This record gives sequence, structure tokens and C-alpha cells, in this order.
Amino acid sequence: MMLNVAETCGATRALGPGLRAVVWVQGCPFHCRGCIAPDWIPDRPARHVDVADLADELLTDPDVEGFTFSGGEPMEQAPALAALIRTARERRALSLICFTGYKLEELSAEPEAKALLSEVDVLIDGRYVETKNDDRGLRGSSNQRIHHLSGRLQDTGFHFDDGPRRAEIRLRGDEALMVGVPPRAVAAEWHALGEECA
Ligand code: SF4
Repeated sequence: MMLNVAETCGATRALGPGLRAVVWVQGCPFHCRGCIAPDWIPDRPARHVDVADLADELLTDPDVEGFTFSGGEPMEQAPALAALIRTARERRALSLICFTGYKLEELSAEPEAKALLSEVDVLIDGRYVETKNDDRGLRGSSNQRIHHLSGRLQDTGFHFDDGPRRAEIRLRGDEALMVGVPPRAVAAEWHALGEECA
């Protein structure tokens, strides 16, 4: 089974508790004003990768203890992402955080989404609303909700709702990748830098 992936990160502490590998999928049906990843909104071919190969890649660091799925819109590729986490979990007891622009209620009636939801420990749902970005937590804006679907990450001491924001900038050759949910000031600088370089 194949995934259309915008980017990956093999290990970060900026997207949830512990050391996590991240997959950002390509393509999103929403066009939230102020989206931090506008290049990943178009539904276009990016990197097509087999889930078994991607699982190998994301498990390279032996200290990775969880995956985070973001985008783009993960629910648009729910069956392949469900296959990815199941494949990886055959080798390691990973936790899973997933962002989505859909609301949980919208997904509950969708069989393909339900297959992925059954694997998710924490779902962060809802569209990003720029005017509700309160600079707190692992969600872009205060309307987005944290659902502890399994309870596994509930008592980790990680404050999904109101903890400090954390972002990393990874340099890859002549490209830069922002990892995390950035503070507003960092996001503004990031956008300005992108416009300067465009
Ligand atoms: S749902 Fe997320 S990825 Fe999609 S446009 Fe909104 S902020 Fe961007």
C-alpha cells in the first residue's frame, strides 16, 4: 500500500511526548487561512512510498517511541496510514498522535477513518482558525480539541492543551523544514522568510 508523503522526520521532541517520528502527508481539502504548511495543501504527487519501506525508515532511530501524523490531511490517506502504524507496531509498541482538520464527529461515520482512529492514542481535531491561535499547546488554535482516544498518553505529564509551544528548524541542503507547532512570532518570521526566498 502506498502513501503520498510531503515530508518525514525521523526523530523530534517537538510534536508530542517523548521522541517521535513524524509523517506529513501531501494534500488537504481545507484551506485554512494562515496554514503553516500551504505547500502541502495541493493534492498533487509528492513522494510515493510503500508503507513497509516507510515503517523501516521511521524505525531507524531505536529511541523513537511514537509516531505523529500530520499534513496535509491524514484522514484523506487513512487506510495507508492505518497500515503504516500497524506494520510499525508489529516491531515496536509505539504511541500515535494524529492531527486532522475534520471533527471527530464527522469521522465517526466513515469506515476508512474509523480504521485509523482505532489506532490513534491522541487525536487533535478541527480546522485551524488563525484568530484563535492563542500561542498555547500542541494545537494551532483554541477551537481544536484534544481527544485522548486510548488514554495511553493522558498521564505522561505532557500538556497537549496549554503547554509551551516548541518548534525546531531542520536544515536539509538548501531547504529548511519547520517541525512542531510554532509560537506565533516564530511562525510569522517563518512566513516572512519564505516570502523573501520565493
Ligand atoms: S487542515 Fe491543517 S493542513 Fe489543512 S489547510 Fe487547515 S491548517 Fe493547513
